[in-house]
Amino acid sequence: MKKVKLKNKGTEFTVGKIVCVGRNYVKHAEELGNETPEFPLIFLKPSSVLAFSGEAVVHPDYSSELHYEAELVLLIKNRVKNAVLAEASEAIGGYGVGLDMTLRDVQNELKKKGHPWTLAKCFDSSAVVSDFISTEDYSLTLEETIKLYLNGEPRQNEKLKKMIFKPAEIVKYISSKMTLEPGDLIFTGTPAGVGKTVRGDKLVAEIENIGLIETIIK
Ligand code: MG
Repeated sequence: MKKVKLKNKGTEFTVGKIVCVGRNYVKHAEELGNETPEFPLIFLKPSSVLAFSGEAVVHPDYSSELHYEAELVLLIKNRVKNAVLAEASEAIGGYGVGLDMTLRDVQNELKKKGHPWTLAKCFDSSAVVSDFISTEDYSLTLEETIKLYLNGEPRQNEKLKKMIFKPAEIVKYISSKMTLEPGDLIFTGTPAGVGKTVRGDKLVAEIENIGLIETIIK
């Protein structure tokens, strides 16, 4: 079982499910030709695909279009079902930065057929995370900037406040559909600027005051 750490706390959480939100920034929905959703668009990754900063992302040979997506990640600390907004907010135990690695060519084929995105989103090392900063130590303002650098070149740069659905709203919504448990992670969607990455590339994703990931593509 994979574990994530809360910085400065010595607390570890065994990772449960990884719930991901798609199309949560208007400009990113537009750049892929998608409509802005009325409700959060939700998909899952298994915890077995998790990788950590410093580990490589392995590009599967059945795809020729691997994309990076830098995202704010929420660590759930309380069991919640049908949470009201205050309970949803209280259930967030930490914030981290993540990479939702995506096989865009595979996803486009699956979308055309009306099939689930599973094979485009769930491959080993397809979810990379940093350590998490405790919500006891840091209050998110949404003025923080999320950035991604590809081989040192800036590719994504956006304020978290540009999220359509904010963290507590996302937790509230997901908990109305499935129970969230301590150790679950929520990827909250990526801003515009996603793109292709190839073997040998170096990716750095960071959110000010929260964390940083470095990885290479293998
Ligand atoms: Mg994503």
